Amino acid sequence: GYLPLTDSYGTRVGMLYVGFLEAPYTAAKKEAYWTIVAVFLAVLALSAPLFLWLAKGIFSPLERMSLTMKRVERGDLTARNGSTGRQDEIGQVAGHLDSLLDQIQERDQRLRDWAGELNQRVDRRTVELRAANKKLEETFQQLVMSEKLASIGEITAGVAHEINNPVAVIQGNVDVIRMTLGPEEAQEVGTELDLIDNQVMRIGAIVSKLLQFARPSEFGTFEESLDLAPLVTDCLVLVDHVIARQAIQVEKRFDQETHPAPPVRIDPGELQQVVINLILNAAQAMEGDGTLTLSLQGADRDDRYGALLTVADSGCGIPEDHLAAVFNPFYTTKLGEGTGLGLSISQTLIQRAGGIISARNRKAGGAAFSIWLPAAEASQDAETTSAAQ
Ligand code: ADP
Repeated sequence: GYLPLTDSYGTRVGMLYVGFLEAPYTAAKKEAYWTIVAVFLAVLALSAPLFLWLAKGIFSPLERMSLTMKRVERGDLTARNGSTGRQDEIGQVAGHLDSLLDQIQERDQRLRDWAGELNQRVDRRTVELRAANKKLEETFQQLVMSEKLASIGEITAGVAHEINNPVAVIQGNVDVIRMTLGPEEAQEVGTELDLIDNQVMRIGAIVSKLLQFARPSEFGTFEESLDLAPLVTDCLVLVDHVIARQAIQVEKRFDQETHPAPPVRIDPGELQQVVINLILNAAQAMEGDGTLTLSLQGADRDDRYGALLTVADSGCGIPEDHLAAVFNPFYTTKLGEGTGLGLSISQTLIQRAGGIISARNRKAGGAAFSIWLPAAEASQDAETTSAAQ
């Protein structure tokens, strides 16, 4: 700075000059500036990790929660945050989330259990419903069948009686012709007379079968506790001529050791008729040589114990769609030869004794007919119980 110096007259006599150097100040300013920058950077460098550490303490539980949510979203209901090690709000939120997930998992499990139980119940009910439906269908079929049989039976009984009279007249007249002609002349037409005799006998047999079919109860004589093995052996003796003629091999598989057949309650004459019918059918189906297998063993049906007799052959078998029809009255493939009543009568007789008769084709070829009859003791128990009721 400059200041003029004047004397007492006011005349400028000199100049007062004051000055100092600027450089030290600029240097000081710069130094202070850099010092502040350095301190700021140092503080920043020191505080950054601290802040990061603090931030991590806040964000890592949040990240963990977000990951947990994602796992739950993907279906992993066991995902949990676990302990965050914090007592603050974030720690509380994480703990709360875990307890909510616990509840969800428990409810989900309960729902699954219920669903499983419901499925089981539905399955059980479906099975029961199916069984009931099947029974209903069977009962319906039986009802239809018994109605059919009743009306067929009525007609049959009438027709059979009507036929018996003319047949008796024919037979009587054939005898009269024989007697009138005398033994020598009768000899000349012997073949024709024998033919008439045979045919009359055939008509008689068919009529008696028809009557038996129409009124099976009239033919049943008595029921007794019966061992099947000797009865089946007797049947074989009775059809021996057929078996021998066709060179049929007979295999008897009577299980006497592991599952011996128990005695059954049925009229022996009726059962013999059924078995003979099955053997003759089998022989006819084999049309020549073949193997006839007769198996006998103890077996359960609908939780009841009984005897199971199977007559199997190596014949032509039965077309699958005709398996159910073979028991229908008048079903026959032996046109002109068969009556189609054998199996139908057999079914009536076996069912009347509380048994079951069924047919199937064998894998090896041929048909197999099975007769199951309840054990004599069991059927008597059932009768006593039903009588008591
Ligand atoms: P029929 O022998 O007089 O024809 P059935 O009632 O005994 O009357 O038999 C009915 C039909 O069942 C037979 O015509 C035949 O077609 C069939 N059948 C029975 N048994 C057998 C068998 N073992 N193999 C093949 N078909 C059979």
